[in-house]
Amino acid sequence: MVQKDNLYTYLDNIHNLAIHLFKGEEFVTELLATHGVSAEAQPLVKELILSLQSLIVFLKDKESLGVYIDSHDPKFTFKLESNGHGHSRILILPENFNDLKKVLSGNCQLTKFSPPENIPYTSLIDFKNKQAYEILNDIFNQSYQMDTYFVFKDEYDFLLIHKLPGSDDDLKLEEFVKNNIFDLDNADKFQFLSSKKVSFQCNCSKERFIQRIKSLSNKQELINEAPLEIKCDYCKKEYSLSAKDLTD
Ligand SMILES: [Zn+2]
Repeated sequence: MVQKDNLYTYLDNIHNLAIHLFKGEEFVTELLATHGVSAEAQPLVKELILSLQSLIVFLKDKESLGVYIDSHDPKFTFKLESNGHGHSRILILPENFNDLKKVLSGNCQLTKFSPPENIPYTSLIDFKNKQAYEILNDIFNQSYQMDTYFVFKDEYDFLLIHKLPGSDDDLKLEEFVKNNIFDLDNADKFQFLSSKKVSFQCNCSKERFIQRIKSLSNKQELINEAPLEIKCDYCKKEYSLSAKDLTD
């Protein structure tokens, strides 16, 4: 097992199950701090990050996904972009989100990119008064034809189990989890398969912002206002773009 990894996959060969454990404390803590999420709003945002990030267990190396949550109540936007290597970035707007609500209403768009396929898979889900983790349930019901169950194993540890071909159709995963104390280090029961590191990485750059502004219809207006001070919504890095940057 590579040290510092935080997403572990095990097999239960008797029941034909895959068991994924995401130990997200360091990852989530870094994101909450980057986005200045208030202590009051942290439980909701933490739950969103831990549960939705687990979707990467279904990505192949070159695949990536985006989960976009447009919550009307409380009013905020959440985006998670991640690839099969575990590189992730997250956006939360408004900045310093501080709503106290425990449930949310709005919609969620899931987009999955599978190169060389040009057209991504997308699905849209409406939800009302849902806890953050329940949105993942809706995503599984609508987008993944797979018997899946998940649970928070600890404050920052998220367990996701799904059936593999050949598993018992009658096996109820919820009961299975309740009846099994998950000692995943027990090699007689669970075979360690792989691990990876889920980490916060933003691929923004000055060049990308320049290209984006050059593609806008009102670019001349923006050039006239230069220098532009721009902050990345994902990593909060700041860039200064001069008129020369935007016209070269
Ligand atoms: Zn960035």
